[in-house]
Amino acid sequence: IIVAEDVHKWYGKFHVLQGVSLTVNRGEVVVLMGPSGSGKSTFIRTFNALEEYQQGKIEIDGITLSHDLRNIETIRKEVGMVFQQFNLFPHLTVLQNISLAPIWVRRSPKAKAEELAMQLLERVGILEQAQKYPGQLSGGQQQRVAIARALAMQPKIMLFDEPTSALDPEMVREVLDVMRGLARDGMTMVVVTHEVGFAREVADRVILMDSGSLVESATPDAFFSHPKEERTRKFLSQIL
Ligand code: ATP
Ligand code: MG
Repeated sequence: IIVAEDVHKWYGKFHVLQGVSLTVNRGEVVVLMGPSGSGKSTFIRTFNALEEYQQGKIEIDGITLSHDLRNIETIRKEVGMVFQQFNLFPHLTVLQNISLAPIWVRRSPKAKAEELAMQLLERVGILEQAQKYPGQLSGGQQQRVAIARALAMQPKIMLFDEPTSALDPEMVREVLDVMRGLARDGMTMVVVTHEVGFAREVADRVILMDSGSLVESATPDAFFSHPKEERTRKFLSQIL
């Protein structure tokens, strides 16, 4: 459902993506790890056209991400994204945050959008917070709202960029539990995270990215227990 072939990107002279290729199948969960600055965020942001790339090819569910951004609306509907910072609208209630895009982008009737929003809030375990504002919620609750908001567009793919790294430790779990549930329900997911427990349990594949290239891709057990590449071993020795 995601096919990236030899993707290159430069920021000015800086070669941030140096020929990255990745295929993700429907229903697959891929965890992307790697040192700070290795290009993880840049790479996954190309999947929903938040970042352009200059060379290579990216196809999402059969749609080529063209450089003229012709398909950008379609892609944004198909690919949901959750960030480290929750990026909720502070002046809107939780319910409004979640139903906004379905109403404006999908042209869904308000009542229907709100019904879906309530279902999603139940799914992420915070139905009772619907009428609150983001500032009245804990970080873990805000991140679950952000997940519900992304799901409200009924995406085929969900991208997560370090969704738990801005959270206090006691809130990490509730967010990872929601992500586990999504994976179990068959969502295709690409997750940048250094949560080894989550990667071991949920990922079909774990990939190490370093200096704009993919270094090693393996099943969680092979990746964490028998890494082939020296760079992977070195990286793991720093995070484990
Ligand atoms: P982290 O783990 O810290 O989030 P990352 O692997 O996600 O790192 P990226 O955010 O993709 O890394 O950044 C890769 C490199 O590109 C970094 O060296 C960064 O400084 C550089 N970079 C990112 N965004 C820009 C930009 N808009 N302009 C110029 N350079 C950028
Ligand atoms: Mg990043």
